[in-house]
Amino acid sequence: MKILVVEDEERVAHFIQKGLKEEGHAIDVSFDGEDGGFLAEVNDYDLIILDVMLPKKNGISVCREIRDRGVITPVLMLTARDSVEDRVRGLDAGADDYLIKPFAFEELLARVRALLRRRSESKTPTLTMANLELDPISRKVTRAGKTIRLTTKEYALLEYLLRNPNKVLSRTLIGEHVWDMNFDPESNVIDVYVSHLRSKIDKGHALQLMHTIRGQGYMLTEEDVGN
Ligand code: CA
Repeated sequence: MKILVVEDEERVAHFIQKGLKEEGHAIDVSFDGEDGGFLAEVNDYDLIILDVMLPKKNGISVCREIRDRGVITPVLMLTARDSVEDRVRGLDAGADDYLIKPFAFEELLARVRALLRRRSESKTPTLTMANLELDPISRKVTRAGKTIRLTTKEYALLEYLLRNPNKVLSRTLIGEHVWDMNFDPESNVIDVYVSHLRSKIDKGHALQLMHTIRGQGYMLTEEDVGN
């Protein structure tokens, strides 16, 4: 999943970024309210982790503004003090949950999981193409009923492809969604992951789902695209 972290304390931001990356998420980090609000509007995130005390614009204003502009991404607010007022203002501004600082990473992770689960349940329960199935809740992937073991990045890549079926996805798009906005589209990391994923999902099956569209990118489809 793609997550935006808006937090001006670099130590805290990097701690969150590192931990969530290890869970297989793509993380963008922003260090002030103006930039964070901008990113939240222009990019499509699955979750936004938003600190309340931020330079330029506080988290409560950021949350209210993005909600006013139609952004429905779940927001997890980080409040510095155990202040009832802050929490109420945050929830009133459209936040979905809050976490009081300092917190243990496990606690953050539990909230993140709960919010992402709620989001995937409201989306589609199981993603399928032909006899390939991906369950976003249990993170289980099967083809023709047989379990396929994927690394966290391979899983994230497959989930992104399955959410965008029959569309040619460029390396830049894949990089932004599955890695992060600083991803270098010139690197061959995506090709390597696609090739691993292709052999895991397609090998031994007559119907190939993963296709390379020369000079354009990749596409997951059941249609015959002539390659
Ligand atoms: Ca802060």
